[in-house]
Amino acid sequence: MNRGEILYEGKAKKVFRTSDPDLYLIEYKDDATAFDGLKKDRLEGKGVLNNALSAIFFTLLEEKGVETHFVRKLSEREMLVKALEIIPVEVIVRNIAAGSLSKRLGIPEGTVLGRTVLEFYLKDDALHDPMINHNHIYALGLASAEEVAQLEAAALEVNAVLAPYLKERGLILVDFKLEFGRHKGKILLGDEISPDTCRFWDSSSGEKLDKDRFRRDLGGVVEAYREVWRRVKGGENGALESQD
Ligand code: UDP
Repeated sequence: MNRGEILYEGKAKKVFRTSDPDLYLIEYKDDATAFDGLKKDRLEGKGVLNNALSAIFFTLLEEKGVETHFVRKLSEREMLVKALEIIPVEVIVRNIAAGSLSKRLGIPEGTVLGRTVLEFYLKDDALHDPMINHNHIYALGLASAEEVAQLEAAALEVNAVLAPYLKERGLILVDFKLEFGRHKGKILLGDEISPDTCRFWDSSSGEKLDKDRFRRDLGGVVEAYREVWRRVKGGENGALESQD
């Protein structure tokens, strides 16, 4: 599957058209940004790990009945996906207080939440992704009530699949961000699922194994991502093995 015209270049990924109008190619980059792009770096090997991890998580979710845009991994840095019309809403799922929730509500990081919390943010860099609710989504015409119900159900299902899967591998799924899009009349899970978009903590030490290592200058960012990959890769002995 060859790359066509570039459609979009984001902070961590590029999206290309392919010869099939229903399929796009995603390339995972080594670039990392945080705080609205104020902090930037190149983290050698991050793209390869995020592609590998996203492929593993999307495959698992598909097996469990969650419909995603993932088609197949094409190379170390590339995956083939179904073309989505992205819904410009970030869906955040939280099991444990951290990051912006802890700051905003004064809940210490690490506090187990009494129930899973879902939040919506408008995908708009210029506005710094403001938090929105159902009413804003309908008022702005971003998605219908039926679609929002589907997003919420899918987000909770992703959590129900990933949290126990990660727990068995010594990882706590603290929180994560999802994006969805429309494809041939269906809502599919899109974007990526990786340590760039999830918080993973080591179950015994509490060590952060995600992008907070970059945001908070903790060092060992790629090593932490590789540790997550080591724990979830199972029998998949791909090209990454050579990095061990
Ligand atoms: N997140 C993300 N992209 C964003 C904002 C958040 O992937 O633009 C992820 C983040 O990595 C974390 C979760 O969503 O796993 C919740 O993030 P939070 O709202 O706490 O924001 P942060 O503290 O990262 O600014």
